[in-house]
Amino acid sequence: MGSSNKSGGTYWGIDVGGSYAKVGCITGNSFRIIETFPTGESCHPEGLLKRISELILEGNTKPAAVGLGTAGLIDRPAGGVIRFSPNLPLWNSVNAGEILRNHLKVPVVVDNDCNVFAIGAINSGLIPSEGLWLFITLGTGIGGALINQGDIIYGTGYSGEFGHTTVREGGIPCPCGSDGCWERYAGKNALKWYYTRLTGQRVSPRDMALLASGGDIPAREAFREYGRWVGIGLANLANCFSPTGFFIGGGLSPTLNHFESSARREYKKRCRHQWNIHLLKDSPAAGAYGAASMARKQC
Ligand SMILES: [Zn+2]
Repeated sequence: MGSSNKSGGTYWGIDVGGSYAKVGCITGNSFRIIETFPTGESCHPEGLLKRISELILEGNTKPAAVGLGTAGLIDRPAGGVIRFSPNLPLWNSVNAGEILRNHLKVPVVVDNDCNVFAIGAINSGLIPSEGLWLFITLGTGIGGALINQGDIIYGTGYSGEFGHTTVREGGIPCPCGSDGCWERYAGKNALKWYYTRLTGQRVSPRDMALLASGGDIPAREAFREYGRWVGIGLANLANCFSPTGFFIGGGLSPTLNHFESSARREYKKRCRHQWNIHLLKDSPAAGAYGAASMARKQC
């Protein structure tokens, strides 16, 4: 699995999320999280990346390379500049790759969290390294990655923004500046809204899944409506890419059994492709592991 440890050093992975940054490293064939730092809206990139660099340099093995994953638009050709950071406003336009390289003096690679997660899943054998696969994360937003023969397809650098493809012209406004984006209809808030619209109540997707399992009619109807929009987006993607299949991750993916049949029905109505959907299990360490394995593979 993955490539071998080329220089004898350790490969480090940093997963910078909206609430926490997790830092871990691969030694030999094992990976472990070394430390977790709080982030949040007021988190300054220079300060956090300096502390993380100090942690990495404290280790008794010289780092070979470092990977960093975070949400947003990442300019890889420019060395890892965060062009847009949806959760961490102070990270907009920051060259995170350069800051880390200056501190650590080792190769650093930076990528979007969704691509990083996919790279980890490819390297650990969860996503096959043959075929064309689309990885979709269903959460507050909808992220995506295009994987061909085990490699991410980047286009000019920003491929996989499936959540911002338009599914309804003139529809719900999106923070991205467009309207009618797929994630406004098949993201977490949409699912919650489908239930609230029927009952006047607000419940979490997890509670909605419990209600649906218990036979609650509005919860089942909300998942049906949600599944329709998931199916519309997946059919659009299948028509564009003719993929081998899809892997689904993200916070809403554990509820797939509640919306899969309506998604499949909608999909079958709109494309002639096979319905080949797999759940990709998440873990709290998956982002940092993906970042470390990206560093091992690409540096
Ligand atoms: Zn949008």
